[in-house]
Amino acid sequence: MLTTKLVDNAYELALENFDAAADVLGLDNDTREMIKYPERVLTVTVPVRMDDGHIHRFEAYRVQHSQVRGPAKGGIRYHPQVTLDEVKALATWMTWKCAVVNIPFGGGKGGITCDPKHMSKGELERMTRRYTSAILPIIGPEQDIPAPDVYTNSQTMAWIMDTYSMTKGYPIPGVVTGKPICLGGSLGRNEATGRGVFYTTQCACEHLGMELKGSTVVVQGFGNAGSIAAQLLYEAGAKVIAVSDSAGCVYNRNGLNIPELMHMKALCGHVEGFPESEPISPAELLALECDILVPSALENMVNAENAGTLRAKIVAEAANGPLTPAADRILESKGTYVIPDILCNAGGVTVSYFEWVQDEQHLFWEAQDVYDRLERVMKTAFRDVLKIHLDRTIPMRTAANVLGIGRVAEAVQIRGIYP
Ligand code: GLU
Repeated sequence: MLTTKLVDNAYELALENFDAAADVLGLDNDTREMIKYPERVLTVTVPVRMDDGHIHRFEAYRVQHSQVRGPAKGGIRYHPQVTLDEVKALATWMTWKCAVVNIPFGGGKGGITCDPKHMSKGELERMTRRYTSAILPIIGPEQDIPAPDVYTNSQTMAWIMDTYSMTKGYPIPGVVTGKPICLGGSLGRNEATGRGVFYTTQCACEHLGMELKGSTVVVQGFGNAGSIAAQLLYEAGAKVIAVSDSAGCVYNRNGLNIPELMHMKALCGHVEGFPESEPISPAELLALECDILVPSALENMVNAENAGTLRAKIVAEAANGPLTPAADRILESKGTYVIPDILCNAGGVTVSYFEWVQDEQHLFWEAQDVYDRLERVMKTAFRDVLKIHLDRTIPMRTAANVLGIGRVAEAVQIRGIYP
């Protein structure tokens, strides 16, 4: 249900947002030309022997948008609607995101156009390994470091790490992040995106003088980011009144029991039919009156057509690109407070950075160290973006882009052009 048509081209929208921030920064044309577009785009064919014996050809991508501030960094997405333009948009956002939280990475993203929900574990493994071998020349711990994204997970990362290491002849855990703990993963990485959403939502409530305890929350998308954000908000005393996943939406105006809902989702794979809840439509879910809406699904979910129906006070973007620029303008005129994606969901890549640091040093941290450092990074980034938003009277999204793009621009200007 949530996989509605991706009407707007996400990459064009990413470029539109770039221009808005570059104008505020007064960036000269040379700098714009150097940092706006992807540095490297790779399209590969991934043939896979399916369980029934036939060979299926998947189209796949890896885009390195920027290596100005460090190796390219970003997840790999498995989804039927993956396109090259979507991956280019996601890679672009990774560059600004890493700069907003000030970690020494550029931006990248990968994707395979496939339907992972209808593939066996064996098919997924063969597809992942063949894809890894196809992008192998351009990835590596100092070059480009993939991670999980929509419908990929720590198992996917383990296969990539293994394929890469077998080819090189020795174990190289730093080639991917979001790995299982036993392979050099970091404690707290799995929950990091949701935890970052939680910290920035706390900051937003504090700034707006709202009490998080007792506030009402709606979560669109109950995957890794959405479910963990829901859990932490629930534990902090918020009332999560509605939740959706790709199969349906559940609503209880007195609040859903999130630990039980997570248990059911883990067992059955969906939220629909949860006891003490009533089903509602995706459109009704978005239009619910609530304090905090957490879009945690795909791009463009809130657009020109439905933004007018939203009644949330805060929109915390756990997903990448869930609001189109047209939706931004509508919400801006309604006074909705948006915590933009490149700030709100940066907790995932921040702990990916911690994981990479631990792998490089062969020295592993305790969970509390990860949480404390993540909290510091997220709250500092929130404060930095908020200051630009207030000082320049520009929307939070433009402020986040001004911070991120400004840092990349500064780095490229100091590096200069080669040759
Ligand atoms: N896929 C996540 C994101 O969009 C995490 C990327 C990473 O850890 O490299 O931010």
